[in-house]
Order: sequence, then structure tokens, then C-alpha cells
Amino acid sequence: MLNIILFGPPGSGKGTQSANIIEKYGLKHLSTGDLLREEISNETALGLDAKRYMDNGQLVPDAVVIGMIDSKLQQHPDAKGFIFDGFPRTTEQAVALDELLQGKGSRIAALISLEVPEEELKRRLLDRGQVSGRSDDNEEVINKRIIEYKNKTAAVADYYAAKGVHHPLKGNGSISETFQLIGNVMDAL
Ligand code: ADP
Repeated sequence: MLNIILFGPPGSGKGTQSANIIEKYGLKHLSTGDLLREEISNETALGLDAKRYMDNGQLVPDAVVIGMIDSKLQQHPDAKGFIFDGFPRTTEQAVALDELLQGKGSRIAALISLEVPEEELKRRLLDRGQVSGRSDDNEEVINKRIIEYKNKTAAVADYYAAKGVHHPLKGNGSISETFQLIGNVMDAL
């Protein structure tokens, strides 16, 4: 199995690049943001609870997202690998993911981190807000999401750096330039 984490702050291009990666490498895409938005549109209890955090720019509790990932891993026992997008977002989530993968005799091969300056992130997220209809793409919530990222999520890169699998990349080039950089890492694995 080949398991990759696509990592970076909100607006760094994880969703866009995940689509490119699954097309080229045939991995199963698991985005906790997408899974949570699906729960919200299905009006499940989990979705209604998660929405309160998301609309406020806060992370959803670890147990909720870990449970979602656990059940998705179980639903795809024959996947040739996974691309994790927007997960793990805390060190606790990273530890839980490693345990889940260990149970399958597997591990994270690489954390690919898209590095984008903060001004560019804000610009992209405000632009996305114009077209996405996402209730968390407004200036106040964007600022809170970036703070959550710095306080809780950035440490996940250090956690995987200590395991020797952290690959930081420049994420503010064009979509195809960034995909080229990701491809260089993927092809070397
Ligand atoms: P972005 O990368 O643009 O911030 P996402 O779609 O990945 O957007 O996430 C949107 C929101 O969903 C986050 O701000 C957070 O509230 C929630 N969320 C997504 N993934 C996680 C996670 N792994 N842990 C906690 N909350 C999450």
C-alpha cells in the first residue's frame, strides 16, 4: 500500500492537487472536509454537530474525524493506497492514523506539505468564497482557520519530519508547476 498525506494550511491547494494525484496514481482520496460536508448535506447528527465548529473556523473534535477515517479505511480493504487530504490535523489524529495503518500492516510513506505565503492563502480563500458557497469562506472565519492551523495543525509536519517522511514543497506556483513538484516526490517513493 502507498499512503500519502497531502498537507498544508487552508487554501494551499490540497483538494485541487488530490484530484490530480488520484487521476495519475490511482489512490483512494479521503478528505475529512469533504466527508464532513457530506454529513452536513445529509443532515446527520454528526454533520449538524460538526457544522457548529466548521462555521466558527474551529477544528471538529478528534474522535469524530478519527471515527470517520476508521470506517472509510474499513470500507476499502483492497485499496492500493490512500491520499489523506485535510487529515491528520492534530498530533492526536496523526498517532491514531498511524495505529490504524499499523493494523493493516502499513504506514505513511510521505507527508507532502504545500507551503504558501499567508497573504496568498487569504486571497485564494476569499476568491473561493465568491464561488464555493462554503459558509466558512469569509474573512473572519478564514483568519480563525489560519490560527487553528498554526496552533494545532502545523505540529503534524514536525511529527512526520521526526519519522523522516516530510517533503515540503513550494505551493504558490501554478497548479501544473505544483503538481510537477508533487510528482517528483511520488515517483521517487
Ligand atoms: P480547508 O483545507 O480549506 O481548511 P477543509 O475542507 O479541509 O478545508 O476543512 C474545512 C473544515 O472542516 C475545517 O476548518 C474544520 O472545521 C473541519 N475539518 C476538516 N478536516 C478536519 C480534521 N481532520 N480535524 C478537525 N476538523 C476538520
